[in-house]
Amino acid sequence: MHFRTRAIHVGQERDPQTGAVVPPIHLASTFVQPGAGQWGEFDYTRSGNPTRKALQTTLASLEGGSGALCFSSGMAATHCVTMLLGSGDHILAGADIYGGTYRLLHKVLHRAGIEATLVATTDLAAVEAAFRPRTRLLWIESPGNPLLSITDIAACAELAHRHGALLGVDNTLATPVLTRPLELGADIVMHSATKYLGGHSDLLGGALIVRDPDLFKRLYFLQNATGAVMGPLESFLCSRGIKTLELRVREQCRTAARLAEFLARDRRVARVFYPGLADHPGHDLAARQMQGGFGAMLSFEIAGDLAAAKRLVESTRLFQLAVSLGAVESLIEQPALMSHASYDRADRLAHGIRDGLVRLSVGLEAEEDLRADLEQALDQAMPGM
Ligand code: PLP
Repeated sequence: MHFRTRAIHVGQERDPQTGAVVPPIHLASTFVQPGAGQWGEFDYTRSGNPTRKALQTTLASLEGGSGALCFSSGMAATHCVTMLLGSGDHILAGADIYGGTYRLLHKVLHRAGIEATLVATTDLAAVEAAFRPRTRLLWIESPGNPLLSITDIAACAELAHRHGALLGVDNTLATPVLTRPLELGADIVMHSATKYLGGHSDLLGGALIVRDPDLFKRLYFLQNATGAVMGPLESFLCSRGIKTLELRVREQCRTAARLAEFLARDRRVARVFYPGLADHPGHDLAARQMQGGFGAMLSFEIAGDLAAAKRLVESTRLFQLAVSLGAVESLIEQPALMSHASYDRADRLAHGIRDGLVRLSVGLEAEEDLRADLEQALDQAMPGM
């Protein structure tokens, strides 16, 4: 079956008892057992829940995995992966990973004796050189955040395996509509389900999808032992969101590509970062690795300073000033003052995140309305230019 059909039907079979075309939401925290010491499929919702299972079945199918686990947040999912490691182990991660992942790697895991270092994963020679004898995990994001850098997933899988490490890919920005890392050799795919999978800014969740059944068992053990599972209501909302995932992502990509072209032509915009533009350093790789679109995130640098960028993000009417991404509502943010404010300025500039950078998450509104909104905000931010 095609992706779109699986998104609607796999794991989401009609309720056999009532014939309801939408499976019911199972809110029960506990389940009656057939006898003392006897176990049915479900016994306690932390260990397993029918509504969460339905979502996990759908996700495993969409990412091409043998199993999926759903968590209370994207960070809980990432944390679960890091619990596979022990004291003395090393994690090698991309330089432009999500800020919360950076915080987990650098401010929490050292307490367990796990060290993390960052490397620009667009440079495969640098990645190769950064492996250590105890590197157990290579963790990447493609496209990266907020400059939309593109990393070669298949090459990273080969490198990780040669060095005895697992490759984990945060696939939140690309979604399985555009990129399926397991098919490219990755061991673990992670999602902040809060973003495109849910798609409507109304749930917090995370997911891990793997191919190897033994790895699945180890992760399941850790999830059940530590407890950060997705609740039944969020699982239902996420399953509902996934039914329109492909349609949403394809349309959002189309609008993002048009807005990127529009911004690239505007004299008040110094540079646009969008993998679909021919001048993006990752364009050729993205054209091979991403299927049928270049994503719906883009960023751009205005020909103005921090204050002008601040005026711009505060002047849009449809693009709402908020972090997060991937929903039907378009969002705008200023990395220097918001998502990357925790970096000191020199470090931020070294990462290529300049004062005038603005990041967009393009939603499902009409492209003409979004373009007009950006145009009037640019007029307000840089009058007379
Ligand atoms: N990965 C990426 C790329 C994200 O953008 C986010 C959240 O913004 C996360 C992981 C963390 O997910 P959550 O906020 O659901 O914990």
